[in-house]
Parts: sequence; C-alpha cells; structure tokens
Amino acid sequence: MELRICFLYGGLMNIYGDRGNVIALAKRAQWRGIAPIVKIINPGDPIDPDYFDVFVFGGGQDKEQYVAARDLQKLNGERLRVAVDYGAVVLAVCGGYQLLGLYYQPWNAPRIEGVGLINSYTIAGNERFIGNVIVDSPYGKLVGFENHSGLTYLGEGVEPLGEVLKGKGNNGTDGTEGVISGTVFGTYMHGPILPKNHLLTDHILGLALSRRYGKIELSKLDDTFEFLAHDIAAARPR
Ligand code: GLN
Repeated sequence: MELRICFLYGGLMNIYGDRGNVIALAKRAQWRGIAPIVKIINPGDPIDPDYFDVFVFGGGQDKEQYVAARDLQKLNGERLRVAVDYGAVVLAVCGGYQLLGLYYQPWNAPRIEGVGLINSYTIAGNERFIGNVIVDSPYGKLVGFENHSGLTYLGEGVEPLGEVLKGKGNNGTDGTEGVISGTVFGTYMHGPILPKNHLLTDHILGLALSRRYGKIELSKLDDTFEFLAHDIAAARPR
C-alpha cells in the first residue's frame, strides 16, 4: 500500500512548522508498512485530480496568500475540487483554510476569492489572535497554536472541527474552531497540528487510504510518547 501526499504550495504556504503535518502523515503510514509518496505542488504545477489521497495546505501571510489564490483561480482550484469529488482528503491550516472558503477579505486590500470547497468566509479583524489553543473535538482534545487576524464564519452544511476550550478559534466569538466539510478539514491550529494530535492524524490517514483501498483497520502503534506529549500540552497551556 502507498499513501500519496500532496504538500500544496509547500514552498510558499508553510508557516510555524506546518510541514510537520506532512511528516506526521508520512511517518505514521511508514511505521505501518505503508509507503508514503510526498510531492510538492508549486504555483504553475497542475494537480492531477485523480492521483493524490491527501492534500496538506499550510498557512502563510497575506502576501503569500495572494500568490496561492492566483494559482487556485487560474489553474488548480477546479482540479482540487475534482480531487475532493474523487474522495481526496484535505487538511488546510490558517491561511490555507481561509483560501478554501468562499472568500477572504484582508484589511485594506482587495478581496481574495476562495476555492469554495468550504461554506465559510473570512474577514480580517483589527486584533491578532496569538497563543495556545485547546479544542474539544471528536478526536479528543486537540492542542495547537494560533496566530491570525482573519475571522472565519461557518455557513450551512458544515461542522466545526471542535469547540474552543482555550484560545480564540475561528472568530473569537462563537466558540467554534476549524471546520469539517465532508473530507475537507480546516483549522487555525499550527503547531503543527498533526504531530501533536495523533488521533486526528490517524483519522485523516484512514480516510485518505480508504479512497483507493476501501475501509481499512490501521494497525496499532506504540503511542506512549505521543500521548505523554499531548497530555502535557493539554494540561499546561500558557
Ligand atoms: N493572513 C492570515 C491571517 O492573519 C493567515 C495567517 C496564517 O496563516 N498564520 O489571518
């Protein structure tokens, strides 16, 4: 078995260690005898919508977001939508999450049209949310770090990834963090999120593999250190 991972705009959208999400997926596949294949798609490279099992789309500042958004509008947005139709899983973080919604309205700058894969929209606020986050989710307590000024609001037909226990989350007001929209996951949690939250990693891994192999039972790993690190982070947020 192999797991085909796309690090979408990896050279551009990769802030606060978001590349660690690719490494966590690849390692947890490899430890189970599943061969990971990682490809970086840069602006100008066309995505083959039938190839990838999972897309990892990291965060970036507005400057990088404009470049990524232009490529999504011109070339890859439609390809990504088709890939999701074919069952691919997407994990998008912060700036990437914002670009998968309907639009992102930066502060004092032209609106960026999104891919529309998620029924959400984002408007830049005048406050920056910086700090550790804890979220109650179907995959246990998720721990991470947020740094954004964009305020994301979810529309009909999508679920939040979880409920904020500490931090600000999507917009600092409605108590939601992130989104689950079919096989598309969005979150503001850097950290990166997956190495710190291996239950979510395994959920995404299983979902991604099911695209080509059907539902499979992932073998158990020794997660002593993962649980320890996670529990320390969840118990002592600063
Ligand atoms: N530019 C966005 C914001 O500040 C995204 C930042 C990020 O990806 N960390 O809201």
